[in-house]
Amino acid sequence: HAKRQGRDRSTLFDSEIQMTARSRFALESELRETLKTNGLDVFYQPIMDRTGTQLESAEALVRWKHPQRGWLSPIEFLDVARSAGLMYELGACVLKNVCAHWRQAKDQNTPLPTISVNLSAEQVLVPELPELVREICKNQDMPVSALQFEVTEDSIQGDFSGIGRILEQLVEAGAELAIDDFGTGYSSLSRLKTLPFSRIKIDRSFINNLPDDDNDCAITLSIIGLARGLGLSVVAEGVESEAHEAWLFEKGCDYLQGYRYSKPLPYSDFISRYCSR
Ligand code: C2E
Ligand code: MG
Ligand code: MG
Ligand code: MG
Repeated sequence: HAKRQGRDRSTLFDSEIQMTARSRFALESELRETLKTNGLDVFYQPIMDRTGTQLESAEALVRWKHPQRGWLSPIEFLDVARSAGLMYELGACVLKNVCAHWRQAKDQNTPLPTISVNLSAEQVLVPELPELVREICKNQDMPVSALQFEVTEDSIQGDFSGIGRILEQLVEAGAELAIDDFGTGYSSLSRLKTLPFSRIKIDRSFINNLPDDDNDCAITLSIIGLARGLGLSVVAEGVESEAHEAWLFEKGCDYLQGYRYSKPLPYSDFISRYCSR
């Protein structure tokens, strides 16, 4: 796994040096403009029950339809947003668009399931975040309990008490909290216990080589056991094959997410495939 991470990192680095300073600057100012009009889009990926047949919830994943470059995925612009100090605004834009979709779906009688929204490290450091969430939901007459939030282990590393308070306020407002990409970051297990998480998402790097890789089997099995022991639910990310699904079902994983079911879909495609009767 260390090797795989190393490779990801160098790929990221290569694409970064390929992107000239000039085009990076252009992308930054275009992103700034786009955020002014909430111009980013959100795609939805289904999260299925343990049998892989029933929709449980959906993860909202940001996309950018760039006028010249076409659809951009987060890996192509989150770095730019981060270094430009735009992550809080980007997160607000995603939330506004998710809540507008939720309302539209409700009004059209094709209600969305619980939506899981990724929060950045930058967002969970801002004391006003819970108020922002409440306000954006209120504007759409939407209960905060229709949302779930995902934070990575690395996002909850520093300033423990401040972040803890912000996360608790989100939970008090009604949202559930999941720890994302579990097993790849640098947090301690005690934070799972002390922060108000109700769900663990197993990183897809552990799921990839199931059931052939003994180490990945052992790690995944122990994360499922950890979740069970702590009374948390557990989701496997990156479920791509029938073999993944069968193994995870047998080991008692609660929910499944991955290309086996669907790639992230534009709102209207998601609605017609999963929310229409
Ligand atoms: P993540 O939160 O772990 O999201 C899951 C990523 O895995 C998504 O990539 C999804 O398309 C991809 N994925 C899902 N199933 C499979 C599969 O079976 N196989 C493979 N190979 N990949 C799969 P995406 O949409 O490119 O997002 C990448 C990351 O960008 C996310 O990882 C998340 O960390 C970040 N991100 C996405 N949207 C947002 C957002 O609105 N706010 C913030 N702060 N971060 C976001
Ligand atoms: Mg996520
Ligand atoms: Mg994840
Ligand atoms: Mg991941």
